[in-house]
Amino acid sequence: MNLLTLFCGFVRNDESAYYAFKSGLPYRTIPHDPVFRFRAGVGGMVGCSAGGDMNPTNIEYLDFTWNPIAMRCTPVSEGCKHCWHIRRAKMLTRNTKISLNARLGYSGSAPVLMTDRLDDPLKRKKPARIGVQFMGDLGHDDIDYEWIDDIFDVMTAAKQHTFIILTKRPDSLLKWHNETITLGGGDYLPNVYLGISAENQPTLDERLRYLLQIPAAKRFVSLEPMLGPVDLTCIEYLSGQLNTLTGKLSLLCKPNIFINRKLDWVIVGGLSLPGGKIQAPKSGFIDNILRDCDNAGVPIFLKDNAQYPIERKEFPG
Ligand code: SF4
Repeated sequence: MNLLTLFCGFVRNDESAYYAFKSGLPYRTIPHDPVFRFRAGVGGMVGCSAGGDMNPTNIEYLDFTWNPIAMRCTPVSEGCKHCWHIRRAKMLTRNTKISLNARLGYSGSAPVLMTDRLDDPLKRKKPARIGVQFMGDLGHDDIDYEWIDDIFDVMTAAKQHTFIILTKRPDSLLKWHNETITLGGGDYLPNVYLGISAENQPTLDERLRYLLQIPAAKRFVSLEPMLGPVDLTCIEYLSGQLNTLTGKLSLLCKPNIFINRKLDWVIVGGLSLPGGKIQAPKSGFIDNILRDCDNAGVPIFLKDNAQYPIERKEFPG
């Protein structure tokens, strides 16, 4: 099936075209759902009239964002307080140029998979860094695991791109991963970076434990907005203390060992408030993270809103 047929199938909400697309992609060795359930309407899969390509973004470490799910996320911690996605979703709810179902998704009724957005990365041949579902959180409880499968299918096929997933709910993505493995799929993809966002030590400790259990080509943490001091070198893990930058696990009464559960990238940013105001992290917080990353040879990306006097915008190799 060529892409035109596929695309027309999406636009027409054509079940057979969509299923052919799903079964033709390699991510799952056993189809997650052999009997494809096509569900239209609220909470189901619809063609969104907004359509079109991925969105260029001013997120400095990305070229585009790709948001195939219309949703309104719900806050989980202090770092969500000034969430731009929720502000944007509220605006989109009132946008009559997009379909009613997508608007319902943005209103928070129930997420909607916009099938005509699903293949957007495949249309772009030039390699790009693409943020996945930055309009929300792919780990949200209301996201259907089959939709995550679909998104991974596209990322498998679009090998030319680097996909960056960022979540505050790695526990949910770990559950999804374990179910997918049970069904015979779930190999990690070399072009997918998986990261958590955390604002302080408690949220970092809790989320890192889940992130480190999910296989990923590159794991990373985004400390944005960084609201308190954070130490990446001493996290409680497997009854010991893990330096997440080196993989060194210190165990009581046993020799230290190195495990392949570590971070490959660190991002630091401040708090962007409505009206363009910025609350930057204390420079001492960033000094410590920079020192630890440099000691371990881990690349660090300091966003402009960190307002740190030295520019460091590095990517994993
Ligand atoms: S988890 Fe992310 S997208 Fe969801 S409310 Fe919090 S900051 Fe916003």
